[in-house]
Amino acid sequence: MLDVPLSITTAPKGPYDDAFNSKSGLLQYRYRGTDPMHRDKEGLGRALTDNIPLIYFFGLIPGRYLATWPVYIVGADHAALTFTVAVDDMAFVAPDASIVASGSEDRRAYITTVTKRRLHQRSFRERVLLAYRRQCSVCRIRHHELLDAAHIIPDVEPEGLPHVRNGISLCKLHHAAYDAMMIGITPDYRLHVRHDLLEEIDGPMLQHGIKELHDQRIILPHSRDAWPDREKLEYRYERFTAR
Ligand SMILES: [Zn+2]
Repeated sequence: MLDVPLSITTAPKGPYDDAFNSKSGLLQYRYRGTDPMHRDKEGLGRALTDNIPLIYFFGLIPGRYLATWPVYIVGADHAALTFTVAVDDMAFVAPDASIVASGSEDRRAYITTVTKRRLHQRSFRERVLLAYRRQCSVCRIRHHELLDAAHIIPDVEPEGLPHVRNGISLCKLHHAAYDAMMIGITPDYRLHVRHDLLEEIDGPMLQHGIKELHDQRIILPHSRDAWPDREKLEYRYERFTAR
């Protein structure tokens, strides 16, 4: 009996899109090692010919994986030690009727694209929160439920990639205040509060939660490699000052 692997796994390291050198909206899974005769080749080849569903474990951070099921092997490129993988889970997203009605290839490409975006977002959140020791970089609050991985350059823009250096761990209040340009972060990692807010008199939330932040330094990750990219901060800060 031939062993067919139950799952494929991508490790939580390397560039964010290591697993996603996508062609036609599908995932490119590189199987282990450099040996084209590796046992994964046969097992996954069998999964391809017999259309066997597999579980895909996507590494978020060391020790944490997000499982997606079912995925199917839909192509092989043995010279590149790569299988093409499609995600096919109708419960996972609610695609619109035209996509359901279209052929299964279109449907899988669509679902794979949606999954890919979701995996990137989850991975970004986990990596940013881990880098900041699971606290808001502004007010230090440590409750996971209240924390977001904020983008410095928003993810709707081409430069707004889900890289740790384009992220800052912020609580809900400070994330919203940052996105609303009520607070800005200088390329020297200092907080600036919008002038009209500094003049405003209100309750303790505005006083302690916003106004007293002015000119404070944000909390940075231990590892310099994870510090926010200064150019990205500058780009965003210019918008804050120009508003
Ligand atoms: Zn905060």
